[in-house]
Amino acid sequence: MTTSANIAAAISGFEATFGYRPTGVWSAPGRVNLIGEHTDYNQGYVLPLAINRRTYAAVSLRSDSTVRVASSFSSQVHEVQLSEIANDTANDWAGYPLGVAWALQQLGAQNASGFDAFFDSDVPVGAGLSSSAAIECSIASALNELWNSNFDRQILASAGQLAENSIVGAPTGIMDQSASMFGKADKAIFLDCKTLEAQKVELGFEKENLELLIIDTRVAHRLVDGGYAERRAACELGAALMQVGSLRELSSADLARAETVLDEVTLRRVRHVVTENERVLKTVDLLRSIGPRAIGDLMMQSHSSMRDDFEISVDELDTAVDVAVRHGAIGARMTGGGFGGAAIALAPIDKVSEITLAVIAEFELLGYAKPNIFAVSAAEGARRDA
Ligand code: ADP
Ligand code: MG
Repeated sequence: MTTSANIAAAISGFEATFGYRPTGVWSAPGRVNLIGEHTDYNQGYVLPLAINRRTYAAVSLRSDSTVRVASSFSSQVHEVQLSEIANDTANDWAGYPLGVAWALQQLGAQNASGFDAFFDSDVPVGAGLSSSAAIECSIASALNELWNSNFDRQILASAGQLAENSIVGAPTGIMDQSASMFGKADKAIFLDCKTLEAQKVELGFEKENLELLIIDTRVAHRLVDGGYAERRAACELGAALMQVGSLRELSSADLARAETVLDEVTLRRVRHVVTENERVLKTVDLLRSIGPRAIGDLMMQSHSSMRDDFEISVDELDTAVDVAVRHGAIGARMTGGGFGGAAIALAPIDKVSEITLAVIAEFELLGYAKPNIFAVSAAEGARRDA
């Protein structure tokens, strides 16, 4: 769909559900992480980009304190009183937008009132592209304007995180919402998860005739809960044994000492985080000094580190990466939390169809589910569309 078709779909969904015309439409993008995996909760560095897949929120204020939310994603219209959101247990997907309305008030929004909202989205759900941040940031932007809150983008991002942590109950970091709020065309967001400083870094993909492919393996995040928590615990243990507040404080110069202090598994977990932080910094340097064709090796090293040291890859992701590179990608790596989800491949435009066909053929040969492969580009962060 084109942007104007998405806006029209959000408006007509609103009208069909609520029977009147919305005041406006706001949208926010999903994101993909170029490099920097499992570094966010270690106070480290990440380099995501907002993508040209967005969630559109058609919204109107109400004169009472009732909130109604609906989505083309679900036939359910969820209705609750603004003051009851925190006690509202039957919220399901509605926890994301309702959680943001609650979080904005926690962060000091003064003129909160009821509203009606309808969501329409072309961000794939559950593929690791953060449809959750997209819905959060779209409604955060809408309410910020309609409630006259005047919060800056960093506070709106933290409202999304607070909603996800406190109302939805997912212990996620600030990366996704930061990318969705701060995204820019052709730019990645270099985020320091300790200071929350966000810098824009030019990608130059188009200038170099490169395309960023998402290879969604459709492998559901197997074991994700246990695996994710176990990795976080190993990182905390590693930091404690190395006597630092977080793994962010270590560099590869500390790894020799780590070998004498840590057990073999913890050492490998720590080594991933330490080297991954350094790879993010190098990627930023190379993008700024040489350009995107120089970052392929770092993407490959990142994937190997996640496969061998952090052990969060799966066969489908390894296959996607191998085949993409064998057929001409400059670099490829799994992206997101791991145990399934998507890989990315940075490829010359004239190799895209060969790579796509080769990955599909290899998955078929190995008896894997058919992957969903599509190109994304770096896009504008949250905004008002209509
Ligand atoms: P991801 O963010 O990687 O796509 P999550 O599990 O974090 O996966 O978030 C997906 C959830 O967000 C969905 O299951 C749904 O509850 C909610 N969600 C995302 N987009 C929409 C939408 N357009 N309408 C309603 N709910 C949505
Ligand atoms: Mg999410």
